[in-house]
Amino acid sequence: MPFNLHPRPIPGPRRVRRSTAGLLASAVTVCLVAAGAPAEPLGVGDRLYPALGNPGYDVASYDLAFTYSGRNDKPLSAVTTIRARTTATLDRLNLDFAHGTVESVEVDGRPARFTGAGEDLVVTPDHPLPLGSWTRITVRHTSDPVAAKGQEGGWVRTTDGLAMANQADAAHLVFPCNDHPSDKAMFTFRITAPNDYTAVANGLPTGTARGTRTTTWAYRSAHPMATELAQVSIGRSTVVHRKGPHGLPVRDVVPTADRTTLEPWLAKTPDQIAWLESKVGTYPFETYGVLMAQASTGFELETQTLSLFEKGIFTEPAYPKWYIESVMVHELSHQWFGDSVSPRTWSDVWLNEGHATWYEELYADEKADRPMADRMKAAYGASDRWREAGGPPGRPKPPAPGQKIGIFRPNIYDGAALVLYALRQEIGRPAFERLEKVWVQQNRDSSVGTADFVRLASAIGGRDLTGFFDAWLYGAKTPPMPGHPDWKPAAPAPAKGAGGPKGGA
Ligand SMILES: [Zn+2]
Repeated sequence: MPFNLHPRPIPGPRRVRRSTAGLLASAVTVCLVAAGAPAEPLGVGDRLYPALGNPGYDVASYDLAFTYSGRNDKPLSAVTTIRARTTATLDRLNLDFAHGTVESVEVDGRPARFTGAGEDLVVTPDHPLPLGSWTRITVRHTSDPVAAKGQEGGWVRTTDGLAMANQADAAHLVFPCNDHPSDKAMFTFRITAPNDYTAVANGLPTGTARGTRTTTWAYRSAHPMATELAQVSIGRSTVVHRKGPHGLPVRDVVPTADRTTLEPWLAKTPDQIAWLESKVGTYPFETYGVLMAQASTGFELETQTLSLFEKGIFTEPAYPKWYIESVMVHELSHQWFGDSVSPRTWSDVWLNEGHATWYEELYADEKADRPMADRMKAAYGASDRWREAGGPPGRPKPPAPGQKIGIFRPNIYDGAALVLYALRQEIGRPAFERLEKVWVQQNRDSSVGTADFVRLASAIGGRDLTGFFDAWLYGAKTPPMPGHPDWKPAAPAPAKGAGGPKGGA
């Protein structure tokens, strides 16, 4: 998930999210073609994002083609081809898409009617799609990098082009999709840009075609991916290659002008991968690297195989070296926790952020002499306040209106890492370390939820831990920390204390 960096005091990580003013605008500019029965927006019932995803089909693959003009304030022309299998008989189907103009839709090669409803593109094929059938949907559309008022995420405009930050619910600002991590799919990308740009996407390159004025770059993912983790970088970039553990291809994408300055940071990745492999097992994907974007996003993001960072955090002298390294490890550890093993619902996001914070802290403990226990004790002191402000880690409060990434509060970062610490205290270090390895190995390339984690922890811990997790994940108050009876919640903060906005029920 986004990992917020600034503004922050030194030392120690603090995540303060930018506030985004404005209402959540409905920015659908889909051409209205269809008549007939009223179309309505649908979702898969996510408690935090009810409009995300759509029922009735399972996407197997996305083929995304973008044509970039060289101007990042103009819409890209795009073709999105979705191959899906129906899980119901469908007279029509919904895709999530909310920020572009749809020019045409074809289903299985035949023109289909389409209309907009909320943040959905509702497609009516010329014949019903039977249950259990394969279908191919081709949408010709634009993809607008200029955010509408109140919109967050999707394309990120950099000083030299574009990058992407779709978490949690913004992939459908870029391309039509089933925008929920419970429906992972394979991805191919074809990006056409003027010859002086470099385009990079998730996965490995499959070919480059250079013309007289433009170049088309193609990439393919070797593993299924959630839409929120898609990444496309277009910029005046250099791709730097090196080898990671076991010959893993590591490729970083950096502004060409900064390549030498950034090299000391880039060189750290192979050892960080090796360190994480020693903790949780083999790196789960075909490649890794960091994308250093010339943008101020206010966060870093674990896009699959190519994590997005603001270039500025590596050149800003105020950040201590150990801290930047632990942020790199945070995003890297998401490749196991959050990317390879995805949350089934957004309420399971503590499994992403709790683990990423855990390894971020463990790395700082082992490599920079920043004791994890100290940070856990501090988190314990704040945990009741975080629970009150953001909900308990396993049941975060919905985002406030106009702040759709507002679920990324301390309760799911340090608050959730604290749950893992309590678990390690409860079942002991050897069982905990085994649980971590088995969890990522058993659930590789899938979407799983909290109940799955509780079940596995109980099996490996040798006893039913349902009650333990109920208290730690869902309690309004933080339970006593096993083995640390002296840890106490800090006194309530005066008046407008820590924590985010109070969401709904
Ligand atoms: Zn994170």
